[in-house]
This record gives sequence, C-alpha cells and structure tokens, in this order.
Amino acid sequence: MNSRADVIIIGGGVIGSAIAYFLAKEGVKPLVIEKRKAGQATCAAGGMLGAQVEMSEPGPLFDLAVKSRSLFSQIQEELYEISKVDIELNRTGMLRIAVSEEDRNELLGRIPWQTKAGYRAIWLEDKDLRQECGDFISSTYGALFLPDDYQVRSPRYLRALIEAAVVLGATFVEETEVIGFVCEGERICGVKTLNGEYYADQVVIATGAWSGLLASYLGIEIPVYPQKGQSIFVDTTPHVSEYTIYTHGTYIIPKANGQTYIGATAEKAGFDSRPTLQNIERLTTSATRLMPALSRSFFAGTITGFRPASHDGLPYIGRLPQYEGLYAATGHWRNGILLSAITGQSMAELLLNRATSISLAPFSPERLFHTKDTPVVSDSVSNSIR
Ligand SMILES: Cc1cc2nc3c(=O)[nH]c(=O)nc-3n(C[C@H](O)[C@H](O)[C@H](O)COP(=O)(O)OP(=O)(O)OC[C@H]3O[C@@H](n4cnc5c(N)ncnc54)[C@H](O)[C@@H]3O)c2cc1C
Repeated sequence: MNSRADVIIIGGGVIGSAIAYFLAKEGVKPLVIEKRKAGQATCAAGGMLGAQVEMSEPGPLFDLAVKSRSLFSQIQEELYEISKVDIELNRTGMLRIAVSEEDRNELLGRIPWQTKAGYRAIWLEDKDLRQECGDFISSTYGALFLPDDYQVRSPRYLRALIEAAVVLGATFVEETEVIGFVCEGERICGVKTLNGEYYADQVVIATGAWSGLLASYLGIEIPVYPQKGQSIFVDTTPHVSEYTIYTHGTYIIPKANGQTYIGATAEKAGFDSRPTLQNIERLTTSATRLMPALSRSFFAGTITGFRPASHDGLPYIGRLPQYEGLYAATGHWRNGILLSAITGQSMAELLLNRATSISLAPFSPERLFHTKDTPVVSDSVSNSIR
C-alpha cells in the first residue's frame, strides 16, 4: 500500500474512526493505524448518548455533549446508507432513578438549567413512574425522565464508521503498532510502526488510554489515565424495561438483540484487563436490587475496557503546540461514544483549516502547557461502580 497519506490517525477506536469518517466525507484520504483490532474502550461501552444524564452542571462539556447528541440522527441515516450497518439508535429515552433524598434533590436541581437551555427534563414521582412504565422497579425517590438521551450499540457504531470511511476513501491498517514519529525539526512528517514508516503532514493521536504513552515518544506529557470498566450482559427476552435505567450505582441498557447491558465498574487497575468475579457480583447485586425481575435472566458474558480519563474531566481536542502538524483527540473518559460525533466533525474542520462548528478552546490541549501546576489525576479515576 501507499505509505503516504493526507492525514495519519493513530488509533482505530470510536474517536479515530469518527475523525476518519468526517475527513473522508470531505474528500480527504486518511490512514488509520491500529495496534490490534479497532476499538478497545469503544467495544466495551454501553453506548449511552447521555448528554443530559451525565452532566450535573451547565458548562462547555454540556454544550459539547448536546451538540454531539444532536448529530446522531443524521449520522445513523448516513452510515446506514453508505455501510448498510444499523447502529441501533434507540430513542426510548433514559430514566435517571433517584435512590436517596439527597440524590432526588440533586436531580431536581438539574431541571431548571436543562429546560432553560432548551432540553426536555421531566420529573416523575414514584407513583407516576409506575403508572408510566409498570412495576418493574423497586421503590424509588422518583426519577428524572430524559426523553432525548438516546443509546446506540457501540461495536456496531464503530463498524459502521469504519466501513463508511473506507467506502469514502479512508484506509485502515490493523495489527500495526505505532512505536515512534518521523520529524523534521519541529515538523511532524509521519510515524514509525513495527511494519515500517508511514508519511503525512498531519498526524492525530487518538489512542485512548494509551495516548500519554504515544505523546511521550515525542517528549510531550499528556496526562491520560486508564480507568478500567467492567460490564456484564444478560439475556432478557422480552426486556424487563424498554427504557435505559440509570442510577448512582449502575445503568441497565436494553439492546436490540435481546440482551441487556449492565454497567459498569470504575477502577484503578493499570492496564490489567482481566474481568473479576467480584465485579460480576457487584454489578449483579446493584442491578437486581433496582430491578428484581433481572435475577431470572441468563448470564451472557462480561467485558472490560479502559476509559481514557484526562486530568480535569475534559477531553483534549486540538493542536499540540510543540510540533507543526501534530494533533490530539483523546481523554473522552466516560463519554467517548457520545462525544465522538462532534469530535470527528470538529477535528475534520480543524485539519482542513476551517472554522469549527463549536468552540474547541475549552478542550484545547494547550491548557496543559499554560499552567505551572502539574495536572493531577481527577477524583473520577477512583474505585467504584458508576
Ligand atoms: C465499561 C465502559 C462503559 C462505557 N460506556 C459508555 C457509554 O455508555 N457512553 C459513552 O459515551 N462512553 C462510554 N464509555 C467510554 C467510551 O468507551 C470511551 O470514552 C471511548 O470508547 C474512547 O474511544 P477512543 O477511540 O479514544 O479509545 P479506544 O476505543 O480505546 O481506542 C483507542 C485505540 O488505540 C489503539 N492504540 C493504542 N496504542 C496504539 C499504538 N501505539 N499504535 C496504534 N494503535 C494504538 C488501541 O488498540 C485502541 O483500539 C464506556 C467505557 C467503558 C470502559
């Protein structure tokens, strides 16, 4: 194959693949280089597009999230048309269940600013919840109904992005690890892999939890930490609930194939990807406490992945100032599926030297290099079920 590309994207997860797709739509021919099979965290993800459920306050991350969510209806149609892969966009909505008085008050406090911003957030008291959805849930402190928080099937979404990008002119090379960069002075010219060198004037680091390691090959420090997440699948045909159910402790997501996804742990475990029995037990206990009928379902499997967590909870999207032609799109932590659409679109705009559809200033990696303080690991990267 041709070892020169318009743009090289390192990492074939949802972020790298979304960038490739949006670039290919513009007639650019990107090359995606992936160490293994495409997508690590991506293939373990629940696929929630939880722009409202995930944000407890307004701010740039909320704006980015709702903008990204708004792109999915069109993306679903486009991807299906080009790749014939259905990403299973489910628009039933999410129920964020309150599990204590404190939780209820925190959720009620979100309604004014979310509705003022123009998004639907509806409070259901416990009796209304039962009337609306049936008696499948144990007693609650009420629930926030978010009709516009959707979900997709993550592995299918990734496959659709890759297949559509390839149809439009992108190239994906798998089983090829990037082990270094080719530079001329302070300009990036390409990457070194175990299978030889590839050249391009623009290179994007989109290697998820491994992004810190990649940047370190250039002597640049990007603080991205692996936060391990383990989830389980159960067979629940017919589904106990058609809604995605989300609480402090866990989330329960019905999928189109008859399985229900129950997630997820949040652990500091380095890069040890082995699933544990203890986590299966913790997830099972918290899910069946909330939805007792789930205890009759059949165990179908477990999966782990490494969320790429940044030092301040915001992704790094943009130029790396140390080298001309070098970019990062990483650190999307627990919302990479949701944020992939806007990341792909705005990174393509940036690489094409166009104005971006949303300001990337709050997410610029330059924030790392303008502070004298050493960025610290956020509390988010702690041991819990979330
Ligand atoms: C259990 C769990 C549940 C989640 N649920 C949700 C959810 O419901 N909604 C949501 O929005 N997000 C969710 N997330 C988060 C989401 O999965 C991540 O934010 C997202 O997948 C990150 O995508 P990525 O492309 O950056 O990383 P990855 O998918 O990890 O892709 C990075 C790729 O880079 C490759 N790579 C690494 N090093 C190299 C190298 N040297 N050379 C070449 N390639 C390399 C890796 O092999 C990998 O394929 C969840 C995550 C987990 C773990």
